[in-house]
Amino acid sequence: MPTVTLMVTQSKNALRAVVLLTACVLLATACGISEGDLLAGIAPRDNTAFNNGNDGFDAAVPDVDDAGAAFGLDQGGAVPVQLSGGQVDLSLDRFDIDCSDEGLGSDDTVFFAVAHVVVDGNLGALCFGESGPTLIRSWETLAAITPPDQLRDLGLFGGFEADDETGGTTLAFVNTLDDAGTLFQMSINLAEAENYPDELMLTMAHEFSHIFTATSPQIDRFAEPRDCNTYYNGEGCYTDKSVMAEWVRLFWGNGLIDQVDPDQEATVDSGEQRCAANPSFFGAYAASNPEEDFAEAFSAYVFDVPAATNEQEEKLAWIHTQPGLAEFRDRSIAANLGPLDNNFDPCG
Ligand SMILES: [Zn+2]
Repeated sequence: MPTVTLMVTQSKNALRAVVLLTACVLLATACGISEGDLLAGIAPRDNTAFNNGNDGFDAAVPDVDDAGAAFGLDQGGAVPVQLSGGQVDLSLDRFDIDCSDEGLGSDDTVFFAVAHVVVDGNLGALCFGESGPTLIRSWETLAAITPPDQLRDLGLFGGFEADDETGGTTLAFVNTLDDAGTLFQMSINLAEAENYPDELMLTMAHEFSHIFTATSPQIDRFAEPRDCNTYYNGEGCYTDKSVMAEWVRLFWGNGLIDQVDPDQEATVDSGEQRCAANPSFFGAYAASNPEEDFAEAFSAYVFDVPAATNEQEEKLAWIHTQPGLAEFRDRSIAANLGPLDNNFDPCG
């Protein structure tokens, strides 16, 4: 497999939120987790998903037609339509987001070509560059699998070109748009999305899992590492009933979690050893840290990738039991996406 590049860049809006752009392997799924400013406050949110049983994720009714409706851009404007999320309406706009090249996160290796604001979970106005079918198709894939209400966690959806001379390929990444971690940006490698549609699907699920496991009910960005009884991942402490706290308890026990340096960026290399010793991982990159482990397993789950080992199957089965997560797969099936082959590197 190709190597992975890691990039650390400054996040948007000069709030000194450091964004960890995790690497993504060509022909493996993409990755990205965000790191908010460690001093940042946490804003209360209405979305209590995952924190108290069935709240949140089960409420939205799957409507895979939402994605198809994205093409209804020119409805003539005759009848104002209240979009439910997951759709495209380029007339929707917001002005609370820095959509400059720098604000989006362009640097030496990532060059933004396009960005749209996301308004109430719908892809809204172009705010940077030139739009194109690849980014719209990426949005539609994301919208096909994601309950519309959850797309409200996005404020920006962008496309970039990457300098691959570093030896790896970043397929996508997400980062926070505010210190409190209430709003996110998702960015897609346009060339990869264009060339590898199956990988794009996995990537969308992978990336969005980095968002729904990092919203404020899931992680306490106020917490000090020493006060964290679950897992402090460098940006905050997962709340006791969060998805990631449970994931770590279940699958990163027996000292596994102690091997992880939360400040180290995830790479294939950093997961290689754990992968070799443990058949539960969906590839070495998944073994790099719990977040990538969950993201890879979740993407496999959403697109019905068959488990290669019993240990992989255990992870898929656990995801299936979590409130709201089956909805992603239900939507994927309803949209005729997948099943996809298991092309993850073997572990164990
Ligand atoms: Zn990732």
